[in-house]
Amino acid sequence: MLLRILGSGSAWPIPRVGCECPQCAAARTDRAERRTRSALLVNDRFLVDAGPDIYNQLDAAPRAALTGIEAVLLTHVHSDHFLGLSDLVNVRKFAAAPTVPILAAARNWPTIDATFAYVFDRLPHQQRDEKPPFVRQVVESGQTLRFGDLAVTPFEVAHSARMTTWGLRLTENGRSAAYLPDYLTVEANHLRGVELLLGDGAFLDEVTGRHAPMVETLALTRRLGIPRLVFTHLGHHQMSAPMLLAELLQYGPCELAEDGMLLEL
Ligand SMILES: [Zn+2]
Ligand SMILES: [Zn+2]
Ligand SMILES: [Zn+2]
Repeated sequence: MLLRILGSGSAWPIPRVGCECPQCAAARTDRAERRTRSALLVNDRFLVDAGPDIYNQLDAAPRAALTGIEAVLLTHVHSDHFLGLSDLVNVRKFAAAPTVPILAAARNWPTIDATFAYVFDRLPHQQRDEKPPFVRQVVESGQTLRFGDLAVTPFEVAHSARMTTWGLRLTENGRSAAYLPDYLTVEANHLRGVELLLGDGAFLDEVTGRHAPMVETLALTRRLGIPRLVFTHLGHHQMSAPMLLAELLQYGPCELAEDGMLLEL
């Protein structure tokens, strides 16, 4: 399984506008510290989330990543996870599949349609017999989707009362990873046997009511015996990556994702 982290930031990019904190200052001189909104591409064929940065994220990825996209899943409908959907119309012309399904929870479709209903229509230049760029696909929590040898199971996590939010269990050849970019709480059974957890890095130890503090994710990872934890969806910690990592390592082993990072399982 190849996990291509297209974006490793939270709701706003790093550096933050007008901010001179150590994290933002580092991001202005070190590309590795720059973070765009979270998105993940699995096996260069299954795209998770299409936030405001998706167009440039895919432009920075190898061409094979563009041509291979077969489906796009939206974990939830916060702006940082779906507001780039219409930009994919342009990107999609490279895709091998004639129509790319957009997968989302039933409860989130009214929000998607309120903004992007037109991406499910034929484009102005398309003939009547041509398929439109995207097709809606309602997915239920717990339903397993297959892309070759890859099985993807979305499961519901607590995050926002306004919408359904999914974490994902990704399994290939008997090995599993979990993707939890935005979560407050998760039922442990969804993470059993997972070898790699990509966890919510929005807040270190602040209690916000929407995001689990990273220190809690570290404790959960240890409790469940998950061997590898990589934080993504990293927020504005006002510490450079080495400073933040030094803080986190006091609680347990972990890594910080970067934009463009590749993880293999
Ligand atoms: Zn988010
Ligand atoms: Zn800052
Ligand atoms: Zn969110």
